[in-house]
Amino acid sequence: MSSIAICPGTFDPVTLGHVDIIKRASTLFDEILVAIAPTARKTSYFSLEERLALTTEVFSTFPNIRVLPLEGLLVDFAKQQGARIILRGLRSMSDFDYEFQLARMNDRLMPEIESLFLLAKDEHSYVSSSIVKEIMELGGDISPFVPVAITEYLKEKEHQR
Ligand code: ADP
Repeated sequence: MSSIAICPGTFDPVTLGHVDIIKRASTLFDEILVAIAPTARKTSYFSLEERLALTTEVFSTFPNIRVLPLEGLLVDFAKQQGARIILRGLRSMSDFDYEFQLARMNDRLMPEIESLFLLAKDEHSYVSSSIVKEIMELGGDISPFVPVAITEYLKEKEHQR
């Protein structure tokens, strides 16, 4: 049986922290599904289409990483896709508090799916999509925190205006 892990998130935008966790996970499982959530409650900076296209580009050289839109309830989607593992990254104790609740709830909903966690590397532990967006909106340089594809896309978008 192949091991498939699903990495859900909003990836608005994908950061070097996400990339690190997902690349590391890709050496531990047969396949990684990066599931991009629509943002019904949160408002996103990048549209779902942009987030899908950018994240797909970032992982395009990894044959066992697939990017797809997350549809419906995470545990149902994971089961549909044949994934028995939900993989999340942990940066801090505050991440832990939230992740603990989420993992417990997913376990109640579908106990056959396991939640697993990878610790963020030191250098990425303070990187979040929300801080990146704040820096970006205030005109700061986000290139140390995101893949090149993101900065290039933003430059291109700026150029077209
Ligand atoms: P959410 O919108 O639920 O916060 P994100 O899209 O920000 O989800 O992130 C998806 C996953 O990536 C989560 O497990 C999150 O903890 C993890 N993650 C986010 N940023 C980092 C980082 N800098 N290092 C490691 N993991 C991270």
